[in-house]
Amino acid sequence: MRFDGNTKKHYHITCLHCGAIEDAPIEPSDNSLKNLENALGNLTKHGIFGHKLEFIGLCSKCREKENGRFYMENLKECKETGGFK
Ligand SMILES: [Zn+2]
Repeated sequence: MRFDGNTKKHYHITCLHCGAIEDAPIEPSDNSLKNLENALGNLTKHGIFGHKLEFIGLCSKCREKENGRFYMENLKECKETGGFK
């Protein structure tokens, strides 16, 4: 597992097109995620002590460039393959 320099809990937004990674400007709701971790810990034999959450989308530059075309293509692919890999 890899960690970046920012040790404060934060999430990333990754651009599907150019791969740019930004910090998501939100304060995570720890309660819901803690509940999820607890539930997962109960459902599996894993000792869950954290999580990684990544948001995916298009950065503003790519949105301007592609004007929504790329998004629609990937949305279609996502539905066909069951997810972005
Ligand atoms: Zn981009």
